[in-house]
Amino acid sequence: MHRVADGSNGYAIAAPAVTTVVVAGTDAAFPVARVFCVGRNYAEHSIEMGHNPDREPPFFFMKPANAVVQMDRLPFPTQTRELHHEIELVVALGEGGRDIPAERALDHIFGYAVGLDMTRRDMQAAAKQAGRPWDMAKGFDQSAPTAAIRAVEEIGHPAKGAVWLRVNGEPRQEGDLDQQIWKVPETISLLSGLVALRPGDLIMTGTPKGVGPVEPGDHLEGHIDGVGDLSVSYDG
Ligand code: MN
Repeated sequence: MHRVADGSNGYAIAAPAVTTVVVAGTDAAFPVARVFCVGRNYAEHSIEMGHNPDREPPFFFMKPANAVVQMDRLPFPTQTRELHHEIELVVALGEGGRDIPAERALDHIFGYAVGLDMTRRDMQAAAKQAGRPWDMAKGFDQSAPTAAIRAVEEIGHPAKGAVWLRVNGEPRQEGDLDQQIWKVPETISLLSGLVALRPGDLIMTGTPKGVGPVEPGDHLEGHIDGVGDLSVSYDG
């Protein structure tokens, strides 16, 4: 067999860095394994996107781990004229598992964060129309800005509380965690029936109503009661 020369601990090229998120109040970093996202998990957002708000089984999509960034300033993504904000509660798993019962799901959570599921809405609409995958609409570079993770030990399990997002100081999104169609324990349970969950997995749990466009130069401020704040600006 051909043996590739290396200078990097046996890897053919330098191993990619582990993506991490700061854990608030500690020096520890949370290593990100994968990023799962729940679609249409708030009825009024489902309606604004033209869908039936009935309690259909949740569906999931993914972003690559390195879409998660902690940056105050972000480059405006390429190839979109309709970048949208989606403010979301992010669940950070400390333990994995498969077929996790909803009653035990909370025990698998390390902590929570405020995150943004940034979306190239024009590209997503074209993908939907053509029956194509959403990956490039949802999983582009820096598409998941995330604030520091707050450990369960510190904040417990927030199931109720305001979720909002402002753009340049103007209110855009507003909702409450208790409006989630599929609650966090059910989401973990259902997802763990599809894949074996791993420590380090993040789950973005859906966005409340009011998604809308972001322009170059815009400043976004997000908040979830009991979880924290997130602030990012796009390059002009
Ligand atoms: Mn979303």
